[in-house]
Amino acid sequence: MQTKILSPSREWLELAKKYIQAGEVVAFHTETVYGLGADAFSDEAVQKIYALKGRPSDNPLIVHVHREYDIARLIDGEPPYAASLRSAFLPGPLTMVYPSTGKVSKYVSCGLNTLAIRVPSSPAAQAFLREVDLPIAAPSANISKHVSPVTARHVYDDFNGKIPLILDGGACNGGIESTVLDCTGEIPVILREGLVTREMIASVAGDCGIYKMKEGEKPKSPGMAYKHYSPRCKTAYFIAEALEDAIACYEAEVKSGAPCFLCETAVCARLNGYETLDLGGTPEEMARRLYMLLRKGERQATLLIGIEPSEHGGVMAGVLNRLHRAFGVNV
Ligand code: AMP
Ligand code: MG
Repeated sequence: MQTKILSPSREWLELAKKYIQAGEVVAFHTETVYGLGADAFSDEAVQKIYALKGRPSDNPLIVHVHREYDIARLIDGEPPYAASLRSAFLPGPLTMVYPSTGKVSKYVSCGLNTLAIRVPSSPAAQAFLREVDLPIAAPSANISKHVSPVTARHVYDDFNGKIPLILDGGACNGGIESTVLDCTGEIPVILREGLVTREMIASVAGDCGIYKMKEGEKPKSPGMAYKHYSPRCKTAYFIAEALEDAIACYEAEVKSGAPCFLCETAVCARLNGYETLDLGGTPEEMARRLYMLLRKGERQATLLIGIEPSEHGGVMAGVLNRLHRAFGVNV
């Protein structure tokens, strides 16, 4: 199969619709990361997503809809705060988990009685979703466990020859996956941190919890149990205070390989003369650059050495979560 990469146009929309109606899987731009989408009503189409990614069959998918799509047919009631959150943050990088009516394919939610729904703000995603006028089940468009894709080229690198079409909307501005928010309880609870922060949600809903998986418990959001976002090279990770140890690790590798640091701008400045990838100076910049640099790092380095950024609150919570998973750090 030939994989076409097309920029937004009429031809692009018509092809996407044709493929989706035929039960195929297409990749599309969103403001967070690229998605790998299929008709959420079709068992066969949804199953193709798992097969293509090598995704575990117990890790549910998010359904994407355009801004006018009536989600009432998909959800079985909602708490009072949900409507306020929708009008405050949608379209945007927030996924809301509702009680499900079970209308979409059972493979979307992997047997859970909930459904995760997202309304992306990317104009390319909106045009695509409006054209097909169907809920589109879509995880990130990467091979399972690999770094999420933030350019059409990243998708191509993972799926060339395996999917017919990549809708190229340019680089993703957000850079990390959506915040996943459980909206089935009395207060909203964050299952996965992202660009819509706990503080932002609490300011609208009055309160917001953060789900922490307890020892031995079945995870509420199964994706949380998996190692993710891993670059395909060796990795090491250090706290900022251990910079001397990180440099020793670099010096040991440089004798036979190609080490590279991944760190925030202020730390890069202290590593003059060493290979570095600059994550940026603000949490938003770090979110936008993280996956781009992990993909770049795995191409050019034999060993990627991550240094823990100094800031931790707000958007950084989401960035740190991805960084720790990429480097296999248990926190
Ligand atoms: P991805 O799109 O690859 O970032 O993965 C989607 C994420 O949303 C995973 O972490 C899933 O566990 C989570 N998710 C999807 N549907 C649900 C649901 N019904 N309840 C809880 N988490 C969900
Ligand atoms: Mg993913």
